[in-house]
Amino acid sequence: MIGQRESVSGAHFAFTDRWGGVSAAPYEELNLGGAVGDAPEAVRANRDGAAKSLGLDAGRVVWMNQVHGADVAVVDEPWGDRPVPEVDAIVTTRRGLALAVLTADCVPVLLADPAAGVVAAAHAGRPGMVKGVVPAAVRAMIELGAEPGRITARTGPAVCGRCYEVPERMRAEVAAVEPAAHAETGWGTPAVDVSAGVHAQLDRLGVRDRAQSPVCTLESGDHFSYRRDRTTGRLAGYVWLD
Ligand SMILES: [Zn+2]
Repeated sequence: MIGQRESVSGAHFAFTDRWGGVSAAPYEELNLGGAVGDAPEAVRANRDGAAKSLGLDAGRVVWMNQVHGADVAVVDEPWGDRPVPEVDAIVTTRRGLALAVLTADCVPVLLADPAAGVVAAAHAGRPGMVKGVVPAAVRAMIELGAEPGRITARTGPAVCGRCYEVPERMRAEVAAVEPAAHAETGWGTPAVDVSAGVHAQLDRLGVRDRAQSPVCTLESGDHFSYRRDRTTGRLAGYVWLD
């Protein structure tokens, strides 16, 4: 269920895997995405179960309507009956409010400056990385008192640079914006390494305490991969402060 979990100075980071939920194939088992065709009651049960295993109240988890953009929302409570905004990063200073990001190959990015009491979650696929959603999230954190040198950054399971094949022209376009994302597949064709791009962006901003999940979603049978399976579930990353 919770594939990876870490706590740093009162900030908590967690990434799920695909097991331990109630969804039927092809979303088995722990699909946390609400817009992929799975039964809503299964998604609700899965979100409840994941929150419980993290010691969180499922009603205090904030999700996004992710659109591969670079917009950021500052939140201080769950959306409730309000429409969930189309953003790819959320930031909060509210302790105990968990921020969640959904992925299946894209890079889930969790950020925290516990000293400032600011956390952020971002969804960085290839388009979002190129548009700068992660730097936008860091800037929003800085406006709320965070300092890059104090930020802890964790990126979760994502398709790796040796699996993410793209046309040569697309690789060139991405590399023109973020050279660190230039990659080659295991079989020698053009590829993009989105995680490497995200980490290069964070490094340039002065975020030094970074770690990247070793898991490649496309290669791992324990994780959802859109590129591998097309119709599939979504993993989640969660970040929150005590
Ligand atoms: Zn891979």
